[in-house]
Amino acid sequence: MSLDHRHGNGDWTDDPRDLLRVGEGFDLAAFDRSATPGWGSGKTEARDHMTARGELMSELQERLFAEGRNGGSRSLLVVVQGLDTAGKGGVTRHVMSMVDPQGVALRSFGVPSAEERRHHYLWRIRRALPRPGLIGVFDRSHYEDVLVVRVDELVERDVWEKRYDEINRFEKSLIDAGTTVIKFALMVGYEEQGLRLMERLDRRDKHWKFSTNDLVTRSKWQAYQEAYQAVFSRTSTDAAPWYVLPADRKWYARLAITEIVVQTLLDMDPQWPRPRWREATQRTRLAATMSTASLAESLADTEEVVKGAIAENLQFEEAAAVAASLGDDDPVTKAEREAARVAAQAVRAEGIARLEAMREQKAELLDAREDAPAKPSKKKKGKGKGKGKK
Ligand code: AMP
Ligand code: MG
Repeated sequence: MSLDHRHGNGDWTDDPRDLLRVGEGFDLAAFDRSATPGWGSGKTEARDHMTARGELMSELQERLFAEGRNGGSRSLLVVVQGLDTAGKGGVTRHVMSMVDPQGVALRSFGVPSAEERRHHYLWRIRRALPRPGLIGVFDRSHYEDVLVVRVDELVERDVWEKRYDEINRFEKSLIDAGTTVIKFALMVGYEEQGLRLMERLDRRDKHWKFSTNDLVTRSKWQAYQEAYQAVFSRTSTDAAPWYVLPADRKWYARLAITEIVVQTLLDMDPQWPRPRWREATQRTRLAATMSTASLAESLADTEEVVKGAIAENLQFEEAAAVAASLGDDDPVTKAEREAARVAAQAVRAEGIARLEAMREQKAELLDAREDAPAKPSKKKKGKGKGKGKK
């Protein structure tokens, strides 16, 4: 892993959460679908920044996963909505491929099956929620039950009317149980959707993505815009906000979602769990199963292993601090920088102390062996020795 903290915050001029979050009086009709709010340059720069952020996202995801494996109850649910061709699939492919696949639970919601139809509309949603430690991604969601269902009048008005409040209550209950909920709506323009559908017809390798129903849905464009407007007005809460993304430029939508997911994870601040066992005890037990040669090799590698971990951790902390400062009004002061430097030094010093104790323990274990190799001088460094190779 090499977190390039020098990359900083790319060309974001503001935190996209502040620019894209649905606020009071949000008007979808006036929303520019080809804009790139908050991003100061273009596509190439966006790709570079996404790569850097991917590393940060991956590290944050691993911490969340570790937390979940050790009794933590937190998870992240990312809801992705949008009309056909808006780029929902691309988001899940590009953004979520930046983290360990075992940490992501992707679910797509299509036309309900016969069994699903026999249950309340939230039944299939509840069953698909991310377990603790996971990032759940919903490609379509319970919002279809106030979108397609409303537009196509699949249930009576007084039935779907009640769902907005019910959805708010449902999401509130998820949040209370430890799930952070963020909702993305990819808003593509009418003309752009036409172009994308035409491309699906032009390319035989894209035919599988086309459905004759897409043109039926397109013919109800205005009704869908109104249904989306109602969703934004009625279900964007402080607890579970909607972010509406201009989606005519796919690279922008992906970039913005990446950034918002990273910022959300930073706010969650997942931590490596504390083990419930004693390191020295387990080390002694493990050493007892190792050959003298392996133990000697492990002793020689200790410094490299521990120092590498300290450096990685410090790089992560720095990258996280820089990312978390995105959108801050006042630049980092000299005093804050100095405080960060002092804190980093303390982390390093603590790590080095641990390293010494570890080396001592291993040396003692090695000394106790009958076939112990000739004692190396105490200060001998482990550097230059091939790791894992003999
Ligand atoms: P796609 O995402 O292209 O595979 O299409 C899935 C289809 O399932 C879309 O046309 C959605 O509108 C439809 N769909 C998803 N959820 C529901 C629902 N609750 N009721 C009816 N149709 C749905
Ligand atoms: Mg489709």
